[in-house]
Amino acid sequence: MLEIIQLPALNDNYIYLVHDPESGDTAAVDPALARPVLDVLEEKGWRLKYILNTHHHGDHVGANLELKKKTGCTIIAGLSDQNRIPGMDIGVNEGDRISLGRHAAEVLFTPGHTRGHIVYYFADNSALFCGDTLFVMGCGRLFEDTAEQMWLSLQKLKALPAATRIYCAHEYTQANARFALSVEPDNRQLAQRMDEVNRLRAQHLPTVPSTIEQELATNPFFRENSPALQKTINMHGAAPVQVFAKIRSLKDHF
Ligand code: ZN
Ligand code: FE
Repeated sequence: MLEIIQLPALNDNYIYLVHDPESGDTAAVDPALARPVLDVLEEKGWRLKYILNTHHHGDHVGANLELKKKTGCTIIAGLSDQNRIPGMDIGVNEGDRISLGRHAAEVLFTPGHTRGHIVYYFADNSALFCGDTLFVMGCGRLFEDTAEQMWLSLQKLKALPAATRIYCAHEYTQANARFALSVEPDNRQLAQRMDEVNRLRAQHLPTVPSTIEQELATNPFFRENSPALQKTINMHGAAPVQVFAKIRSLKDHF
């Protein structure tokens, strides 16, 4: 199994270190800051092989150049983002694979939050590093693409195995849960989950990772087919993509 270390950074970011004990290969996903990554590398005696970026935003690539200079790592990101990822060495596309020892991440192209956004899926470890595409009970804002495009991207994630763990790049869960409950006030699983999230956050504990199974039950951006949700937002019987677009715009103004 891969060892996954979750590092809080900046206000609400998570940086992930993914390590294969057998080969020693280590990757950092979306390093916002260098210091916490370097501290773990030193403490564990790990050598950084890759940086895996999901997209070009500063809070995801902030430490690229410093980490590359200090560790000699190779920086991987979406091919279409090649002109805006600092220090990028390798551009990848949908279906490409990145190996950590005998484990591999498959790249999925998930435009929506940005037009070049990609995610990394380690099938044999049931782990998805999804940047700002999918959050716990939420999804990324549409900065560079349409609701339709984001909806298509989320369909890919929705189809992953239920047990897949969701390692997203931000701790936005509490605010997301409040919005989710506003569009699905009668969803009991959602209400229970909100209690659990409030308990965790009161102790400053992470609510990430969640799982695809939990998101299917509670994330409004995965629940555009729910009749109850559709009724609450006056979209009963509308096309799923239109329901999704409405949920996204309601969240933008929540
Ligand atoms: Zn972003
Ligand atoms: Fe972000």
